[in-house]
Amino acid sequence: MQVAFGKHAGKSVELLMFKEPGYVHWLLQQSPSGALLVVQRHAHSLMKKFDAKPLHRQCHGHNCSALATRATVYGNSLAPYWWCDNCDPYEAGANSGKLQGVRTYSEALTHVEFYCGGRKSDYVALVKYLAQAKGLPTRVGEQQANAFFT
Ligand SMILES: [Zn+2]
Repeated sequence: MQVAFGKHAGKSVELLMFKEPGYVHWLLQQSPSGALLVVQRHAHSLMKKFDAKPLHRQCHGHNCSALATRATVYGNSLAPYWWCDNCDPYEAGANSGKLQGVRTYSEALTHVEFYCGGRKSDYVALVKYLAQAKGLPTRVGEQQANAFFT
């Protein structure tokens, strides 16, 4: 679905999910009406699809061979460690209370907003880590973004 308004008019919501997640975050926080509401609903449905895709990463847990189901980031960092549901993310030595769980697209946006100062490039970086772990290729255009969501 193409966005028909604003500075990203003509781009698909699918592509913006990866290229401009900070904009998507902003979009979702606007009061819904008209064309905006349609795009917000579409973005929500894409987020559900994003979250439902499995992570192709092995759990970081000691002697654990399970596939990861979630990620954690430390403090205001962006590089995720990958974990299954059974392992304790603090086993790798993180200071108590310093890890933020990132399981969903929405949680990734929230992490960047509250712990990383909401920098545009940080939204892109964290979403990219998660998306690539879910199978997104390194180079992303409209075609790759659409394929990810189908
Ligand atoms: Zn594990």
